[in-house]
Amino acid sequence: MNDLSPLHAVLSARAPALQAESGAAGQRRGCPLSELRDRLRRAGLRPTRQRLSLGWLLFGKGDRHLTAEMLYDEAMRAKVPVSLATVYNTLHQFTEARLLRQLALDGSKAYFDTNPSEHHHFFLEEEGQVLDMPDCGITVDALPNPPEGMEIAGVEVIVRLRRRSGGRA
Ligand SMILES: [Zn+2]
Repeated sequence: MNDLSPLHAVLSARAPALQAESGAAGQRRGCPLSELRDRLRRAGLRPTRQRLSLGWLLFGKGDRHLTAEMLYDEAMRAKVPVSLATVYNTLHQFTEARLLRQLALDGSKAYFDTNPSEHHHFFLEEEGQVLDMPDCGITVDALPNPPEGMEIAGVEVIVRLRRRSGGRA
């Protein structure tokens, strides 16, 4: 569990203070919260309290894959006052700003990846579990030629897994 005290400082801060430029540079350098604030600004997003709170929960635990419902549960446990609709909106804003990548794994649920760089995934369908494939996990060659006037922007591979029947528990 990451430290939630900076998050609670955000939640209890008055809005004007929160949106003030983090002046007196240097003093706050190295604070993960001010890094997050800068990261949001660089991505063209105003660092509102909700974006900071959800961003703190999202990005504070390394690379991972989660749905809006999973993030909403974490927000509830951390006592962040947000609605599920706000969580959805924020995830989509972060995705448009390329802070997150949406994964096309499952038609019924959107998964978001906190590592927006191109990489491939294993998807354990029955459990809804997403795992990053190791770098050397796959080689994609012999791609078809793209249609006239187009170029390939990226290739994402999803390898779907299931547990072997009769496997040990
Ligand atoms: Zn991933």
